[in-house]
Amino acid sequence: MSQLVQYDAEHCFHPFSNYHDLNNKGARMIERAEGIYVYDENGHEMLDAMSGLWCTNLGYSCEPLVEAATEQLKKLPYYNLFFQTTHPPAAKLSKLLAEITPEGLNHVFFTGSGSECNDTVIRMVRYYWSTLGKEDKRTIISRKNAYHGSTIAGASLGGMSAMHKQTAGVVPDIVHIDQPYGFGECEDGDLQAFGLERARQLEAKILELGEDKVAAFIAEPIQGAGGVIIPPESYWPEIQRICDKYEILLVIDEVICGFGRTGEWFASETYNIRPDLLCMAKGITSGYLPLGGVMVRDNVADVLISANSEFAHGFTYSGHPAACAVAIANINEMQSRNIIAELKETIAPYFAEKWQELSEHPLVGEARVKGMVAAIELVSDKTTNTRYKKELEVGMKCRDNCIKSGLIMRAVGDTMIVSPPLIITKKEIDLLIERAKKALDTTL
Ligand code: PLP
Repeated sequence: MSQLVQYDAEHCFHPFSNYHDLNNKGARMIERAEGIYVYDENGHEMLDAMSGLWCTNLGYSCEPLVEAATEQLKKLPYYNLFFQTTHPPAAKLSKLLAEITPEGLNHVFFTGSGSECNDTVIRMVRYYWSTLGKEDKRTIISRKNAYHGSTIAGASLGGMSAMHKQTAGVVPDIVHIDQPYGFGECEDGDLQAFGLERARQLEAKILELGEDKVAAFIAEPIQGAGGVIIPPESYWPEIQRICDKYEILLVIDEVICGFGRTGEWFASETYNIRPDLLCMAKGITSGYLPLGGVMVRDNVADVLISANSEFAHGFTYSGHPAACAVAIANINEMQSRNIIAELKETIAPYFAEKWQELSEHPLVGEARVKGMVAAIELVSDKTTNTRYKKELEVGMKCRDNCIKSGLIMRAVGDTMIVSPPLIITKKEIDLLIERAKKALDTTL
């Protein structure tokens, strides 16, 4: 253990980490990065197929983002948006976001993170319904295995049972329905019928609770941290129909999917979803500085405006000026370099083709991909898609072998997931697949 790793082991509690392991083995020290590669303190190079935490969409060497932050820090390093105050980066960014997000989403509430977005969602949808005189419309329906953040409200909205158990008590009036996880839960192989069945659980839940009690349904277009759960095509149209029919606000958490990951600016376009609220973070600044935002549809915004009272909610770093400046530079870069069109036409189809090669591997039961987000399912028997025994921790083994072969992939149980930077080239995709195959071979 180097001295720095020792300091870290002795003094730093990390997110989502086992403190016993941290204390004994120390953490992996990432020292620098370049392009889509990160380097540990021993100079070991790793292709970062997770884009950090689904965020470094433009890679690690995007000079205009660094310049934007530097310039803004020199000019106005901090101010806030509280009490009818604003600053130029927030004003410019809110206009830009209204232009690039799906039609009708014309207002933004800035936050500092994805979790803060989802906390904001809970408060905002309840404020919306109470302004309309419907105080009882409070319950929010979410999905099992969803991830909406790590604050107490984010964890409650999310459907991660381990998080619920550890916290021993979560925010009330939040309920969960099943996820549309085809590989793990569709028994007869009819994915479209399965998608409909899972979507109709929303209708059943609304009828069970009473539509006058349900405020909103929240979901990620593709469940990310839950294991890249790509829904069947039948799923989203049915969800949209149900939300429209029962006047339930539809909240789409695009913290991962937003800013190009599925081949459009937002996955709501990819799946033809009409969100009332849309959450974003991560890719909004390519992760260079922390920022989040909740986009609000006009009809919802009109009600909040008509309330003509103070919405008592906000964060010190809501719309931090340097973060907003980076977000503007990030959007400008994506536009001027035509990143999304290039991705849709060339890079994403190539990635999909190469990713499918992994399905040939004896360890892989399924390889699935949508845009620039993908997963493989590790199985002990490919003919029956049998899972490994849990105690073998095959996913963790595979993750460690990826690191040895110079690749960062994430393990969600025995599901291996990636979300590569959007600037990845075809040659780098070849390298990613080569290293993944090598890691799979050594995991056998
Ligand atoms: N929502 C989704 C879909 C996420 O994937 C995440 C984080 O991974 C969050 C919310 C929480 O974001 P943050 O970690 O910035 O609070």
